[in-house]
Amino acid sequence: MTKTIKAGVVGWPIAHSRSPLIHESWLKSFGINGTYEKIAIEPGTFEARIRELVDQDFAGVNVTIPHKEAALALADEKDAAALAIGAANTLVFKEGKVLASNTDAFGFTEHLKSKGKDWAGKRALVIGAGGAARAVLFGLRELGLSHVDLANRTVDKARVLATHFATDTFTITPLDLVDMASFLGKADLVVNTTSLGMVSQPPLEISLEGLKPGALVYDLVYVPLETEMLKQAKALGHDTLDGLGMLLHQARPGFEAWFGAVPEVTEDLRLRIIDDLKEH
Ligand code: NAP
Repeated sequence: MTKTIKAGVVGWPIAHSRSPLIHESWLKSFGINGTYEKIAIEPGTFEARIRELVDQDFAGVNVTIPHKEAALALADEKDAAALAIGAANTLVFKEGKVLASNTDAFGFTEHLKSKGKDWAGKRALVIGAGGAARAVLFGLRELGLSHVDLANRTVDKARVLATHFATDTFTITPLDLVDMASFLGKADLVVNTTSLGMVSQPPLEISLEGLKPGALVYDLVYVPLETEMLKQAKALGHDTLDGLGMLLHQARPGFEAWFGAVPEVTEDLRLRIIDDLKEH
Protein backbone atom coordinates (compact mmCIF):
# COMPACT_ATOMS: atom_id res chain seq x y z
CA MET A 1 0.00 0.00 0.00
CA THR A 2 1.25 3.50 -0.81
CA LYS A 3 2.10 5.90 2.01
CA THR A 4 -0.60 8.45 2.87
CA ILE A 5 0.53 11.95 1.86
CA LYS A 6 -0.39 14.47 4.56
CA ALA A 7 -1.05 18.19 4.06
CA GLY A 8 -3.33 20.80 5.61
CA VAL A 9 -4.08 24.42 6.36
CA VAL A 10 -2.85 26.23 9.46
CA GLY A 11 -4.34 29.37 10.98
CA TRP A 12 -6.07 30.86 14.03
CA PRO A 13 -9.04 30.57 13.88
CA ILE A 14 -9.25 27.90 11.20
CA ALA A 15 -12.81 26.56 11.35
CA HIS A 16 -13.99 28.81 8.49
CA SER A 17 -11.40 27.60 5.95
CA ARG A 18 -12.71 26.22 2.66
CA SER A 19 -9.31 24.85 1.68
CA PRO A 20 -10.08 21.27 2.85
CA LEU A 21 -13.13 21.15 0.58
CA ILE A 22 -11.01 22.18 -2.41
CA HIS A 23 -8.12 19.78 -1.75
CA GLU A 24 -10.32 16.84 -0.73
CA SER A 25 -12.28 17.25 -3.93
CA TRP A 26 -9.06 17.08 -5.99
CA LEU A 27 -7.70 14.15 -3.93
CA LYS A 28 -10.90 12.25 -4.67
CA SER A 29 -10.91 13.07 -8.38
CA PHE A 30 -7.31 11.82 -8.78
CA GLY A 31 -7.79 8.84 -6.42
CA ILE A 32 -4.72 9.95 -4.42
CA ASN A 33 -4.01 8.41 -1.01
CA GLY A 34 -3.77 11.73 0.82
CA THR A 35 -5.27 13.82 3.61
CA TYR A 36 -5.75 17.56 4.02
CA GLU A 37 -6.73 18.76 7.48
CA LYS A 38 -7.47 21.98 9.34
CA ILE A 39 -4.79 22.61 11.96
CA ALA A 40 -5.34 25.35 14.54
CA ILE A 41 -2.08 27.04 15.55
CA GLU A 42 -2.24 29.58 18.34
CA PRO A 43 -0.23 32.80 17.78
CA GLY A 44 3.16 32.54 19.48
CA THR A 45 3.51 28.81 18.83
CA PHE A 46 3.80 28.89 15.04
CA GLU A 47 7.42 27.92 14.49
CA ALA A 48 7.37 25.08 17.02
CA ARG A 49 4.15 23.64 15.54
CA ILE A 50 5.48 23.84 11.99
CA ARG A 51 8.63 21.96 13.08
CA GLU A 52 6.33 19.28 14.60
CA LEU A 53 4.49 18.93 11.28
CA VAL A 54 7.84 18.57 9.46
CA ASP A 55 8.82 15.83 11.95
CA GLN A 56 5.42 14.16 11.48
CA ASP A 57 6.28 13.80 7.78
CA PHE A 58 3.73 16.29 6.44
CA ALA A 59 4.31 17.25 2.79
CA GLY A 60 3.42 20.86 3.60
CA VAL A 61 0.64 23.26 4.53
CA ASN A 62 -1.31 26.28 3.42
CA VAL A 63 -0.99 29.19 5.80
CA THR A 64 -3.72 31.68 6.62
CA ILE A 65 -4.29 34.56 9.02
CA PRO A 66 -2.43 35.46 11.25
CA HIS A 67 0.64 33.42 10.33
CA LYS A 68 1.52 34.44 6.75
CA GLU A 69 4.40 36.73 7.75
CA ALA A 70 5.74 34.22 10.30
CA ALA A 71 5.63 31.54 7.59
CA LEU A 72 7.87 33.64 5.37
CA ALA A 73 10.23 34.41 8.26
CA LEU A 74 10.87 30.79 9.20
CA ALA A 75 11.33 29.41 5.68
CA ASP A 76 14.70 28.19 4.42
CA GLU A 77 13.84 29.12 0.81
CA LYS A 78 11.35 31.74 -0.43
CA ASP A 79 9.97 32.35 -3.92
CA ALA A 80 9.95 35.76 -5.62
CA ALA A 81 6.23 36.33 -5.01
CA ALA A 82 6.48 35.61 -1.27
CA LEU A 83 9.50 37.90 -0.94
CA ALA A 84 7.85 40.78 -2.83
CA ILE A 85 4.49 40.38 -1.08
CA GLY A 86 6.15 39.93 2.33
CA ALA A 87 4.04 36.91 3.27
CA ALA A 88 3.75 33.20 2.45
CA ASN A 89 0.56 31.18 2.10
CA THR A 90 2.05 27.87 0.97
CA LEU A 91 4.82 25.84 2.64
CA VAL A 92 6.41 22.75 1.15
CA PHE A 93 8.48 20.53 3.45
CA LYS A 94 11.36 18.86 1.63
CA GLU A 95 14.21 16.91 3.20
CA GLY A 96 13.75 18.74 6.51
CA LYS A 97 13.68 22.17 4.83
CA VAL A 98 10.75 24.59 4.58
CA LEU A 99 10.12 26.16 1.16
CA ALA A 100 7.77 29.16 1.16
CA SER A 101 5.71 30.59 -1.66
CA ASN A 102 2.85 33.00 -2.09
CA THR A 103 0.23 31.75 -4.54
CA ASP A 104 -2.33 34.57 -4.06
CA ALA A 105 -0.91 36.56 -6.99
CA PHE A 106 -0.92 33.38 -9.11
CA GLY A 107 -4.57 32.75 -8.11
CA PHE A 108 -5.52 36.29 -9.04
CA THR A 109 -3.71 36.33 -12.41
CA GLU A 110 -4.88 32.84 -13.42
CA HIS A 111 -8.47 33.88 -12.77
CA LEU A 112 -7.96 37.11 -14.71
CA LYS A 113 -6.38 35.17 -17.61
CA SER A 114 -9.55 33.05 -17.82
CA LYS A 115 -11.11 36.05 -19.61
CA GLY A 116 -8.59 35.62 -22.44
CA LYS A 117 -7.60 39.31 -22.61
CA ASP A 118 -4.06 40.59 -23.08
CA TRP A 119 -3.36 42.87 -20.12
CA ALA A 120 0.05 44.10 -21.28
CA GLY A 121 0.23 47.90 -21.35
CA LYS A 122 -3.18 48.30 -19.72
CA ARG A 123 -4.13 50.50 -16.79
CA ALA A 124 -5.90 49.49 -13.55
CA LEU A 125 -7.56 51.15 -10.59
CA VAL A 126 -6.79 49.08 -7.48
CA ILE A 127 -8.76 49.87 -4.33
CA GLY A 128 -7.12 48.99 -0.99
CA ALA A 129 -3.54 48.71 0.23
CA GLY A 130 -3.57 45.75 2.63
CA GLY A 131 -2.16 42.23 2.24
CA ALA A 132 -4.43 41.30 -0.68
CA ALA A 133 -3.46 44.48 -2.56
CA ARG A 134 0.21 43.45 -2.34
CA ALA A 135 -0.59 40.16 -4.11
CA VAL A 136 -2.71 41.97 -6.72
CA LEU A 137 0.03 44.52 -7.46
CA PHE A 138 2.62 41.76 -7.83
CA GLY A 139 0.22 39.91 -10.17
CA LEU A 140 -0.56 42.97 -12.29
CA ARG A 141 3.16 43.70 -12.66
CA GLU A 142 3.71 40.10 -13.79
CA LEU A 143 0.93 40.49 -16.38
CA GLY A 144 2.70 43.54 -17.83
CA LEU A 145 0.20 46.29 -17.00
CA SER A 146 1.80 49.69 -17.39
CA HIS A 147 0.07 51.73 -14.68
CA VAL A 148 -1.99 51.38 -11.50
CA ASP A 149 -3.93 54.08 -9.69
CA LEU A 150 -3.92 52.83 -6.09
CA ALA A 151 -6.72 54.19 -3.87
CA ASN A 152 -6.81 53.65 -0.13
CA ARG A 153 -8.48 55.21 2.92
CA THR A 154 -5.05 55.51 4.54
CA VAL A 155 -3.10 57.12 1.69
CA ASP A 156 0.25 56.55 3.41
CA LYS A 157 -0.20 52.80 3.03
CA ALA A 158 -0.84 53.27 -0.70
CA ARG A 159 2.35 55.37 -0.90
CA VAL A 160 4.38 52.60 0.74
CA LEU A 161 3.05 50.00 -1.72
CA ALA A 162 3.62 52.33 -4.68
CA THR A 163 7.28 52.72 -3.71
CA HIS A 164 7.64 48.99 -3.11
CA PHE A 165 6.08 47.68 -6.33
CA ALA A 166 6.65 50.40 -8.96
CA THR A 167 9.30 49.97 -11.66
CA ASP A 168 10.27 51.98 -14.75
CA THR A 169 7.64 50.13 -16.77
CA PHE A 170 5.01 49.68 -14.02
CA THR A 171 4.09 53.00 -12.47
CA ILE A 172 1.75 53.50 -9.51
CA THR A 173 -0.10 56.64 -8.40
CA PRO A 174 -1.20 56.51 -4.74
CA LEU A 175 -4.44 58.36 -3.98
CA ASP A 176 -7.18 58.84 -1.43
CA LEU A 177 -10.26 56.62 -1.66
CA VAL A 178 -12.45 59.73 -1.96
CA ASP A 179 -10.63 60.79 -5.16
CA MET A 180 -10.90 57.53 -7.08
CA ALA A 181 -13.95 58.48 -9.20
CA SER A 182 -11.86 60.71 -11.45
CA PHE A 183 -9.61 57.74 -12.40
CA LEU A 184 -12.44 55.45 -13.55
CA GLY A 185 -12.54 56.81 -17.10
CA LYS A 186 -8.94 55.67 -17.71
CA ALA A 187 -9.17 52.22 -16.14
CA ASP A 188 -9.24 48.99 -18.17
CA LEU A 189 -9.61 47.08 -14.91
CA VAL A 190 -10.97 47.94 -11.44
CA VAL A 191 -10.06 45.67 -8.52
CA ASN A 192 -11.51 45.91 -5.02
CA THR A 193 -9.00 44.46 -2.56
CA THR A 194 -10.57 46.03 0.55
CA SER A 195 -12.82 44.13 2.92
CA LEU A 196 -15.65 46.55 2.08
CA GLY A 197 -18.62 44.73 0.57
CA MET A 198 -17.89 41.60 2.58
CA VAL A 199 -20.67 40.20 4.75
CA SER A 200 -20.97 42.23 8.00
CA GLN A 201 -18.92 45.08 6.44
CA PRO A 202 -20.33 48.24 4.83
CA PRO A 203 -20.44 48.23 1.02
CA LEU A 204 -17.71 49.92 -1.00
CA GLU A 205 -19.16 53.29 -1.92
CA ILE A 206 -18.37 53.77 -5.58
CA SER A 207 -20.32 54.91 -8.63
CA LEU A 208 -19.12 53.13 -11.75
CA GLU A 209 -21.06 55.46 -14.07
CA GLY A 210 -17.88 57.03 -15.48
CA LEU A 211 -16.01 53.74 -15.95
CA LYS A 212 -14.26 53.24 -19.30
CA PRO A 213 -16.43 51.18 -21.69
CA GLY A 214 -15.26 47.56 -21.81
CA ALA A 215 -13.49 47.76 -18.44
CA LEU A 216 -13.55 44.63 -16.28
CA VAL A 217 -14.54 44.83 -12.61
CA TYR A 218 -12.98 42.35 -10.17
CA ASP A 219 -13.95 42.04 -6.50
CA LEU A 220 -11.72 39.90 -4.27
CA VAL A 221 -14.58 39.51 -1.80
CA TYR A 222 -16.35 36.15 -2.17
CA VAL A 223 -18.88 36.29 0.69
CA PRO A 224 -21.22 37.37 -0.77
CA LEU A 225 -20.29 36.17 -4.22
CA GLU A 226 -21.98 39.11 -5.87
CA THR A 227 -21.16 42.33 -4.03
CA GLU A 228 -22.97 45.63 -4.57
CA MET A 229 -20.02 46.75 -6.70
CA LEU A 230 -20.32 43.72 -9.00
CA LYS A 231 -24.12 44.13 -9.24
CA GLN A 232 -23.63 47.74 -10.30
CA ALA A 233 -20.92 46.80 -12.82
CA LYS A 234 -23.15 44.12 -14.39
CA ALA A 235 -26.11 46.51 -14.58
CA LEU A 236 -23.88 48.94 -16.50
CA GLY A 237 -22.86 46.17 -18.92
CA HIS A 238 -19.34 45.51 -17.61
CA ASP A 239 -17.74 42.09 -17.41
CA THR A 240 -17.01 40.98 -13.80
CA LEU A 241 -15.04 38.45 -11.76
CA ASP A 242 -15.67 37.50 -8.13
CA GLY A 243 -13.14 36.50 -5.45
CA LEU A 244 -13.97 32.80 -5.49
CA GLY A 245 -11.92 32.20 -8.64
CA MET A 246 -8.79 33.56 -6.96
CA LEU A 247 -9.41 31.40 -3.89
CA LEU A 248 -9.69 28.27 -6.06
CA HIS A 249 -6.73 28.99 -8.34
CA GLN A 250 -4.37 29.93 -5.47
CA ALA A 251 -4.78 26.36 -4.14
CA ARG A 252 -3.39 24.72 -7.31
CA PRO A 253 0.40 25.08 -6.80
CA GLY A 254 0.31 23.66 -3.26
CA PHE A 255 -1.70 20.63 -4.35
CA GLU A 256 0.71 19.95 -7.19
CA ALA A 257 3.78 20.26 -4.92
CA TRP A 258 2.42 18.02 -2.15
CA PHE A 259 0.38 15.42 -4.04
CA GLY A 260 2.17 15.38 -7.42
CA ALA A 261 -0.86 15.90 -9.69
CA VAL A 262 -1.93 19.01 -11.63
CA PRO A 263 -5.43 20.01 -10.50
CA GLU A 264 -7.98 22.04 -12.43
CA VAL A 265 -10.54 24.58 -11.32
CA THR A 266 -13.78 23.22 -12.76
CA GLU A 267 -17.30 24.60 -12.70
CA ASP A 268 -18.27 21.57 -10.61
CA LEU A 269 -15.69 22.49 -7.93
CA ARG A 270 -16.83 26.11 -7.97
CA LEU A 271 -20.46 25.04 -7.47
CA ARG A 272 -19.47 22.76 -4.59
CA ILE A 273 -17.82 25.67 -2.77
CA ILE A 274 -20.77 27.97 -3.52
CA ASP A 275 -23.11 25.38 -1.92
CA ASP A 276 -20.90 25.33 1.17
CA LEU A 277 -20.81 29.13 1.34
CA LYS A 278 -24.63 29.15 1.21
CA GLU A 279 -24.90 26.56 3.99
CA HIS A 280 -22.55 28.41 6.38
P1 NAP B 1 -6.15 43.87 5.22
O1 NAP B 1 -4.70 43.65 5.02
O2 NAP B 1 -6.69 44.01 6.59
O3 NAP B 1 -6.53 45.19 4.37
C1 NAP B 1 -7.84 45.72 4.43
C2 NAP B 1 -8.01 46.81 3.38
O4 NAP B 1 -9.39 47.24 3.44
C3 NAP B 1 -7.16 48.06 3.64
O5 NAP B 1 -6.87 48.69 2.41
C4 NAP B 1 -8.14 48.94 4.46
O6 NAP B 1 -7.87 50.31 4.38
C5 NAP B 1 -9.44 48.64 3.76
N1 NAP B 1 -10.59 48.91 4.62
C6 NAP B 1 -11.05 48.14 5.63
N2 NAP B 1 -12.13 48.71 6.21
C7 NAP B 1 -12.34 49.89 5.54
C8 NAP B 1 -13.30 50.94 5.66
N3 NAP B 1 -14.27 50.87 6.58
N4 NAP B 1 -13.23 51.97 4.79
C9 NAP B 1 -12.25 52.02 3.84
N5 NAP B 1 -11.32 51.05 3.68
C10 NAP B 1 -11.36 50.00 4.53
O7 NAP B 1 -7.01 42.70 4.53
P2 NAP B 1 -6.60 41.82 3.28
O8 NAP B 1 -5.92 40.60 3.73
O9 NAP B 1 -5.92 42.69 2.30
O10 NAP B 1 -8.04 41.36 2.74
C11 NAP B 1 -8.91 42.27 2.12
C12 NAP B 1 -10.07 41.54 1.46
O11 NAP B 1 -9.60 40.68 0.42
C13 NAP B 1 -10.89 40.66 2.40
O12 NAP B 1 -12.25 40.79 2.06
C14 NAP B 1 -10.42 39.26 2.06
O13 NAP B 1 -11.40 38.26 2.31
C15 NAP B 1 -10.18 39.40 0.57
N6 NAP B 1 -9.23 38.39 0.05
C16 NAP B 1 -9.69 37.52 -0.87
C17 NAP B 1 -8.84 36.57 -1.38
C18 NAP B 1 -9.36 35.60 -2.41
O14 NAP B 1 -8.73 34.57 -2.63
N7 NAP B 1 -10.46 35.90 -3.06
C19 NAP B 1 -7.50 36.50 -0.95
C20 NAP B 1 -7.06 37.44 -0.01
C21 NAP B 1 -7.93 38.38 0.51
P3 NAP B 1 -6.85 51.00 5.45
O15 NAP B 1 -5.48 50.68 4.95
O16 NAP B 1 -7.17 52.45 5.35
O17 NAP B 1 -7.13 50.41 6.79
